[in-house]
Amino acid sequence: MKNFNRSIALQKRAMETLPLGVNSNFRYWGPEITPYLHKAKGAHLWDVDGNKYIDYRLAFGPIILGHSYDEVDKKVHDEIEHGLLCAMTSELEVSVAEKIVAMCPAVELVRLACSGTEATMHALRIARAFTGREKILKFEGMYHGFQDYTLFSTYAPVDVYGNRNSPIPIPSTSGIPKALHNLIITLPFNDFDLLDKTLIRDGNQIAAIIAEPCMGNCGAIKPHAGFLDFIRQKCNEYGIVFILDEVKTGFRLARGGAQEFYNIKPDLATYAKALGNGYPIAAIGGSKEVMSIVGNGVAQGKTYTNNKCGVAAAYATLSILQSEPVFDVINQRGKKLMDGLKKIFEDAQIEACINGYPGMFSFAVGKNAVYEQRDWANTDTSYYLNLVHEAIQRGVMPDYDPREPWFICYSHTEDLIDETLNVMEDVVKTVKR
Ligand code: PLP
Repeated sequence: MKNFNRSIALQKRAMETLPLGVNSNFRYWGPEITPYLHKAKGAHLWDVDGNKYIDYRLAFGPIILGHSYDEVDKKVHDEIEHGLLCAMTSELEVSVAEKIVAMCPAVELVRLACSGTEATMHALRIARAFTGREKILKFEGMYHGFQDYTLFSTYAPVDVYGNRNSPIPIPSTSGIPKALHNLIITLPFNDFDLLDKTLIRDGNQIAAIIAEPCMGNCGAIKPHAGFLDFIRQKCNEYGIVFILDEVKTGFRLARGGAQEFYNIKPDLATYAKALGNGYPIAAIGGSKEVMSIVGNGVAQGKTYTNNKCGVAAAYATLSILQSEPVFDVINQRGKKLMDGLKKIFEDAQIEACINGYPGMFSFAVGKNAVYEQRDWANTDTSYYLNLVHEAIQRGVMPDYDPREPWFICYSHTEDLIDETLNVMEDVVKTVKR
């Protein structure tokens, strides 16, 4: 068994000054099991007790190349020597915008931001301003950051969501103004008929449909064939802005994210995470028609949107994604891990379905296929957690939250994948269902 004494002591100390002893609720796993970080490099993490892990959390997705990736860090160091934050636009920002436009098929104009939450907040404002409407439609189990507008029906137990034909939007936190409850419509993902019926009823009041391309915050459930195209088509029909939230999938599923992967053109797309390999940078991009409204009576900005760390990191990360076979490597290694896990479950006669893509996947234990959050909620998440607990003890670290996918980066070598599969084989044999 691993020793976590230093983490336990640091958690106790951290509790004195930080709620839950962390700076994001998502990083709290519970008393005496929340690890505290010493350092990270490549595909590895070390906690303060010196325990080493193969990291599959990758900071909830941003690390696409590897932790402390030398070329990215060097570019950041070089750039910040000439000023970190100057309230003046640099050539580097223009170059980053040019790269995003070159890589992402639906992006003709782009604005930078610092986090995914900001990006979705701005995208929603742009959509509302563009359409002159106020309602937003989102899907149950999808997460679009911590702004209040879409923080509904994300993490609640699904039995409070009501009947699936008339879902009740459930706020995911106290503190969301009641007035916003009237501005959100929630639906189960992947249901063509229900979306159609909802739009017949409310379509003319809806400013935006916001969707992750897959359920990146609920077990990496993929869209049914044609579902994203159906959203596109319906948005055209009702004059709704289609926002594709690519905060997790952007620069991860492919160079051009899910847009390239699914050949889909949303009106707006939001990015963060892999855009800067962990540095604080995000973007809102989209068609000229919709994005041109920014600056034309529509506000967007922020003191830190051109912070040199984020901009330089994005420049270096995108340059590497453009010039090196990052996605070939990630796809090959991630597929090997997905296939290997599938076989491990089959050999152990445990019913499980592997969802998602090589760069970002998850598995759900249970006999039924999983197409939406309500299906996922019926899977055996306590068994999943027992597996994760044992994997962590053996030096393989996926997230402790079963909704969170396993992420692969360019630094996960073939050997690390083999090591992980050996660990998981042992874990599945050890943990009885
Ligand atoms: N959108 C999606 C799809 C996300 O997964 C996240 C974060 O996990 C966000 C938005 C919010 O991003 P951030 O944490 O950078 O604010």
